Amino acid sequence: MDKCLDIGIIQAFLDGELSHDETSAVSSHMALCDSCVLLPWLKLKAKRRSFSPHSIAN
Ligand SMILES: [Zn+2]
Repeated sequence: MDKCLDIGIIQAFLDGELSHDETSAVSSHMALCDSCVLLPWLKLKAKRRSFSPHSIAN
């Protein structure tokens, strides 16, 4: 597996600030890596309690 993503990259991805190539790289990594999928959700959850992604079981 590729090395894990920086939270700054993930946040830029969520904000739609990455290039097409970067977006592809981030989304393909996140498809394989639970840690990188959960990381931004946990940060968002801390900020916006109403936000509830499907990927979090509890
Ligand atoms: Zn990762």
